[in-house]
Amino acid sequence: MRTDRIAGRLDELEVDAIVVTQPANVRYLTGFTGSNGQALVTSGAGVFFTDGRYTEQSRREVPQMERVTYRQNFGEVVRAACAANGVRRLGFEDGVVTVRTFRSLEGALEEISLVAVGDAVDRERWVKDAEELATIQSAQDATDQAFEDVLEKLAVGLTERQVAQELEHAMRRAGADGLSFDTIVAFGESAAEPHHEPGHRTLEDGDVVKMDFGALWGGYHADMTRTVGFGAIGSELRRIYSVVQDAQQAGLDAVRAGATGGDVDAAARRVVEEAGYGDRFTHGLGHGVGLEVHEGPGLRRDGTDELPVGAVVTVEPGVYVPGLGGVRIEDMVEVRADGGRVMPASTKDLIEL
Ligand code: ZN
Ligand code: ZN
Repeated sequence: MRTDRIAGRLDELEVDAIVVTQPANVRYLTGFTGSNGQALVTSGAGVFFTDGRYTEQSRREVPQMERVTYRQNFGEVVRAACAANGVRRLGFEDGVVTVRTFRSLEGALEEISLVAVGDAVDRERWVKDAEELATIQSAQDATDQAFEDVLEKLAVGLTERQVAQELEHAMRRAGADGLSFDTIVAFGESAAEPHHEPGHRTLEDGDVVKMDFGALWGGYHADMTRTVGFGAIGSELRRIYSVVQDAQQAGLDAVRAGATGGDVDAAARRVVEEAGYGDRFTHGLGHGVGLEVHEGPGLRRDGTDELPVGAVVTVEPGVYVPGLGGVRIEDMVEVRADGGRVMPASTKDLIEL
């Protein structure tokens, strides 16, 4: 059981139990897929909390834990569970617990002390097992299919929103449960914004088309960016494309277990800097992907965490020039001992439709 791994770390974290409230962490540790569930991870079986909507679902999904259905005052049910399990020092996820939940716990727990455990639980999710990797690959495959489909659909006069909808329909046709995140489609000069919200701008000959999208599959996310030319995109954007493509490859080549997020970021960033676009690469190189579309480990300048075997991270350099446009290329990559396995099948060579 996944909770055993956390249970094995309680001593080191100097707590008797951890109350887990972050939804992705709850799902990861317990298997519960509903919208309201929390877990008390102890050295024993632990306790799962939910409300009356999920009594039946939790019986099915969380048979391994004691289950408590509560109506109100989360703090009181946690106190009762702590008392029953001899918990005197209770860990909590200080990066995500709301002030309101913290006060509810603090008010109810009395003699039990609350201990911040940071992202100790989140980190358990960084290493994906074989089943998780296969699920993420399924999400990626649907994303690749959508890219192939949308290239057939691009036409003069379509708006960014319409292209975003085409991508979304295509991912669902390919079997996706939903979207990883709101699809980004940016044409021409709009592509100079890293996270442009699709609008009513229509597609014209010579535009770059930057698309950042991903399918959701079995709770796991995909995240991919491709930038294509709708017709010939002009010499500066072509040059930028080749710089970003080289930087992305340098980043991918630097991915291996034991490298830090900062090492991989630096490998890609160096290529962009040497080409004179360093100040146009305005974000970190990438992030972990799994039950959340943005999770650890982070690939950024100050990233000191070492990449573990089995992590899935994105490598997504971009160059953005206001008034002209921008290019980003993003792949998810599985970290292996001796390198990285690129998960998308979609080409990264410049396509000029
Ligand atoms: Zn993305
Ligand atoms: Zn991303």
